[in-house]
Amino acid sequence: MRQLRREAAAGVATQNGMASGMAPIVAQELTGLRGVGPKLAARLEAYGIERVEDLLFHFPLRYQDRTRVTPIGGLVEGSEAVVEGEVRGADVTFGRRRSLLVVLQDGTGTLTLRFFHFSNAQKQALRPGVRLRCFGQVRAGPRGAELVHPEYRAVGPVPAPVEDRLTPIYPTTEGIGQQQGRKLCTQAVALLKRQPPEDLLAGVDDDSFTLAEAIAYLHAPPAGAALDALQDGRHPAQLRLAREELLAHHLSLRHLRARERAHRAPAMAADSAGLRDFLARLPFAPTGAQERVMAEIAADLAGEAPMLRLVQGDVGSGKTLVAAAAARQAIAAGYQVAIMAPTELLAEQHRVNFEGWFAEEPVAIAWLSGRVKGVARREALAAIGDGSADLVVGTHALFQDAVSFARLGLLIVDEQHRFGVHQRLSLKDKAADWRPHQLVMTATPIPRTLSMVAYADLDCSVIDELPPGRKPVNTVLVDSARRDTVIERVASACAEGRQAYWVCTLVEESDVLQAQAAEATYEELAAGLPALRVGLVHGKLPAARKAGVMAAFKAGELDLLVATTVIEVGVDVPRASLMVIENPERLGLAQLHQLRGRVGRGSAASHCVLLYQSPLSANGRERLQALRKSNDGFFIARKDLELRGPGEVLGTRQTGLMDFRVARLPEHEDLLDAVQEQAAALSQRYPERVAPLIERWTGARQVFAGV
Ligand code: ADP
Ligand code: MG
Repeated sequence: MRQLRREAAAGVATQNGMASGMAPIVAQELTGLRGVGPKLAARLEAYGIERVEDLLFHFPLRYQDRTRVTPIGGLVEGSEAVVEGEVRGADVTFGRRRSLLVVLQDGTGTLTLRFFHFSNAQKQALRPGVRLRCFGQVRAGPRGAELVHPEYRAVGPVPAPVEDRLTPIYPTTEGIGQQQGRKLCTQAVALLKRQPPEDLLAGVDDDSFTLAEAIAYLHAPPAGAALDALQDGRHPAQLRLAREELLAHHLSLRHLRARERAHRAPAMAADSAGLRDFLARLPFAPTGAQERVMAEIAADLAGEAPMLRLVQGDVGSGKTLVAAAAARQAIAAGYQVAIMAPTELLAEQHRVNFEGWFAEEPVAIAWLSGRVKGVARREALAAIGDGSADLVVGTHALFQDAVSFARLGLLIVDEQHRFGVHQRLSLKDKAADWRPHQLVMTATPIPRTLSMVAYADLDCSVIDELPPGRKPVNTVLVDSARRDTVIERVASACAEGRQAYWVCTLVEESDVLQAQAAEATYEELAAGLPALRVGLVHGKLPAARKAGVMAAFKAGELDLLVATTVIEVGVDVPRASLMVIENPERLGLAQLHQLRGRVGRGSAASHCVLLYQSPLSANGRERLQALRKSNDGFFIARKDLELRGPGEVLGTRQTGLMDFRVARLPEHEDLLDAVQEQAAALSQRYPERVAPLIERWTGARQVFAGV
């Protein structure tokens, strides 16, 4: 993503000439600072700090308040405080751990200082009558308030001065100490005050803080600054910077989008008669939401600008049909369509589905996955390359360089959240003279907040209606101590002719371990339930075996399917109405919601048993309760965001998409409306500021430096 951002900003720079508005401070080398030689500069660079400006944007993680002395009687447990008092005694105790306990008094109360590591000389120096000033975190000890291993120094009877600013605590790294980091930032702030960088939001964001003021404030908040607000990211100085940062991210995606849209795509006329016949052959009528989204896509495809559309629809809302309608339109207009799914199982299911749906139409379907090898692969590649394949269904293998299309007109990416953002745009270059239209589909509804910064480059359609007759899945939490009862329940459900999934989860992403766990469970359940036909599917099985097992389950030839999370996305067996998920506490909410979405697809009442391992953490319990209470993907996605943060929810922690410097989501969600307005205002009134803003916040500098 960083890379994309850099490209994005570079693109703007070339359009507008060299970025304007960069104050000289941006370019200043670290070695210009006192105390920075080549060695330290190299260490800082390894940490991503290359210039003075980087130091300014390297914000404290938190603060300590050493600006006042707190009376011992007024100490609050859990807070950090400076105290001053007289030593009344110092004794070594031999409890569970040998420790030195120093009693300190100041006329308002008594405090214990506790040391586990101490020298004899240290003990000798802490004689009764010595005055100490200490700093530490207050906790409740056996004899009242305690400071464990406080910083301390002896002071005289005359009150020593206190700090006049809050003390910043920076994220540290190997080889760069807290003190050293602080000194560097102090110098950088002094430079900043002399040469403030241009306030790119002037006239757009009428905040009381300018950029320079907000930065300076956060590196050294004055005594009396609202520590609570700072800790929560709600201080006006933080909000000022968070708005600017979110704005920069939003604009960089908008810019990418504009760049994409500037290319030409093949215009594909809508084929309404053909579509009507196609829909008439289906065993069901599309929902209103499907109709609406199909119409939105049809209009995009008919245009000359590349479609960039995200379809969000809860599990089971019928996204595949919408994809099929789009594919029809492209194929009818003479173009090739690629559909990419994140797992082999899902890709295979799409292939079967499309083969059925397009049986009556002249559509040649090719199949390509990592496991298609040898002659089959060569044939598939040839058909894609010479254009005899109209529709190519596959997995990641579609991304490989060897795959080149004759006339790719539409790329559909299913369950996009499983691919990660980075891959989003990489297939587009396969088409020679034009950009294919792009349709990405996800069942993980992205809360609006997140999509504004994560998907601002895409138009969004929402399938906000489920096919009629669906009943919500009834979800229960059961302690794994009662596993036997659950097994009995599976037995009786299957005896009534229902089908069930038993999902084994592991935290490890290792296919091998997952497969082993599922195999063990399979052996156990098959032995314990001799009356049932039990199947097993996991990622290590050969593709043909997997497909065979899935087909048997779908055909009702198996009662119980033991599976790993390979069945998480897309798998569609309407008759299955019971799902047991082992150790659900190990998975994210969105993933559990996806898994659960495998049941509740038919007309029978469905059940999901979350067989958890106790004890559950408070957070774990809250997550599972959310799932028990709600079947609404949007509600669940919000909860997931609150409980796990945006990186986990988008599955893009590594890509750096969400590693903001100041902004926090969802905490700063309320800023996004303003951000959207400011994005419009800035682009309209001050277009020349867009590139420097993107550069300032999204690490696009290297590119500018080379311009
Ligand atoms: P998802 O959005 O999770 O990908 P699918 O496309 O797999 O959902 O659809 C789920 C199931 O619902 C499939 O069996 C599909 O054939 C069926 N389906 C889709 N649209 C409708 C509809 N309008 N009415 C009834 N069933 C539908
Ligand atoms: Mg699907």
